[in-house]
Amino acid sequence: MKIAIIGAGTAGVSVLRELVKYEEFKDLEVDIYDNPENMGQGVPFQNDSQELLINLPSDQMSLNLDNPREFYEWYEQQDDFKFEHPEFLPRFIFGHYMKSYLNQYQQSYDNINVIYKEVTEVYIDSKIGNTDINYHVCTSNDMSECKVYDIVFLAIGTLSYHDPYHLKGTKGYIQTPYPTYNTLDEVEDSDRIAIVGTGLASLDVIRYVTAHHPNLPITVTSRSGHLPSVRGEMPDIEFKYITPEHFNQIKKDYFGNVPLQQAIDLFVKECDRFDLDLDELVHRKQGEPIHDLTYDLDHPKEVGIFQTLLEMVKENMNWIWNSFSHQDQEKFLKEYHGILKANSNPMPPTTAHLIIDGIHDGLIEIKKNVKDIYYDEPNNRFCIYYEEENEKPSIFDIVINATGAKTHLTDLDHDDQLVINLENRQVVQSHPLGGIQIIPETNQVISPRYGTLRRMYAFGQLTNGINQSRNGVNMIVKQAASVVDQMFENMREH
Ligand SMILES: Cc1cc2nc3c(=O)[nH]c(=O)nc-3n(C[C@H](O)[C@H](O)[C@H](O)COP(=O)(O)OP(=O)(O)OC[C@H]3O[C@@H](n4cnc5c(N)ncnc54)[C@H](O)[C@@H]3O)c2cc1C
Repeated sequence: MKIAIIGAGTAGVSVLRELVKYEEFKDLEVDIYDNPENMGQGVPFQNDSQELLINLPSDQMSLNLDNPREFYEWYEQQDDFKFEHPEFLPRFIFGHYMKSYLNQYQQSYDNINVIYKEVTEVYIDSKIGNTDINYHVCTSNDMSECKVYDIVFLAIGTLSYHDPYHLKGTKGYIQTPYPTYNTLDEVEDSDRIAIVGTGLASLDVIRYVTAHHPNLPITVTSRSGHLPSVRGEMPDIEFKYITPEHFNQIKKDYFGNVPLQQAIDLFVKECDRFDLDLDELVHRKQGEPIHDLTYDLDHPKEVGIFQTLLEMVKENMNWIWNSFSHQDQEKFLKEYHGILKANSNPMPPTTAHLIIDGIHDGLIEIKKNVKDIYYDEPNNRFCIYYEEENEKPSIFDIVINATGAKTHLTDLDHDDQLVINLENRQVVQSHPLGGIQIIPETNQVISPRYGTLRRMYAFGQLTNGINQSRNGVNMIVKQAASVVDQMFENMREH
């Protein structure tokens, strides 16, 4: 059996880690594809500034489901990198940990072939009248170089960044902030800088700028102006009400679905167990950064429990999300997704203090209600307009785009050529809520032309319509383990 793993980040390396555990692995021939920079590290854990930290304590995130401390133990055993506060390590260290496994497997197994190229096409060439399917994987337009596989793992990570103000390609517009240590290469100390987006990517830029250009003022702006929450004291909790058993029971009475309101009621019951004032926590943000950050810093217990409960919702989102009707999924995205997002992936308290100090010192300005951004070509500058009618536009020399990755196939452009080609050749189809269609239980891709592709699996953000909010390392590792297990199970049966 020939296997292609496309993308060697968290999902790709995890698939490899799972494959080598099985006795039958010796009968496989595995090719793993990625570009030379990201091979084994992926995008979030690429080599970058040490200010960009993983969003979990270092001893809680690993590629080993049986040992959450494995990454931390790896860190302690090596001598190349040492940090004063290893509780939250830089992201690129996690990349080196992942890559160490890829290197180890490459050296130990002759049947693993690392190909330092990006894949441009995956097509199916089944003979008319024949339902046997093989996958042709290409890295160029030369079809004679495409290789044929029995099994494909699509592990290409996030789609490219949004470009909400159509500024891509404009001088002074930085389309993606990563790697941050190159982002400001062309920037002068006298330049006026705006970061568009107030989510996780903008925090990365703030951390980088404050460490390396301590006197450079920055404006961080978005429509809501809301920053992510601050990490509270997150305890170990188990759900009592939001369980598969309760969901299965409810489904019997509602045509196979769990009504969203019933799921919300169960969540409220979980919050009641800890005497949380849910209303207060949901509405605690006032859009005033210092107030909002200080609130979280001052209420670490309540905020921490709330964050933990939401984190557990995310971890169990596969069966929760896929129990809802389509209408309820849309309603969830409209009414509740913002709460989940605002309280997930919280920033460490140190970052909150950094931002508060920056605002006090006049070096960081957080501005909400962005309406539009124009490039004023004759004057070589950007004008940011706000909703407030009488407010004059703010003028900037540099705009850094930190609005995050696209989620829907309809928004793709040439930066996502592989996915565009996959859709065009009818190998994949879009999911109405984002990404591509897969079977939630098995991660098998659903093609509009060939039906369920039994031997093509997709992971990560490409599957966000199904794997809603389930893109953290631990969740991806779990999916990789279960998919590889099923794959061997299927192979034994056929
Ligand atoms: C900025 C950022 C920070 C994050 N921090 C955390 C964190 O601290 N903790 C956490 O749990 N989660 C974090 N996440 C979530 C993160 O996305 C996942 O944890 C995980 O890294 C995703 O794994 P992946 O394999 O899907 O994507 P990636 O790890 O990005 O891997 C995808 C790989 O596919 C390659 N690729 C893309 N196209 C092709 C192609 N055509 N051919 C070949 N290869 C291709 C890419 O180069 C890349 O190496 C973060 C996400 C982002 C965006």
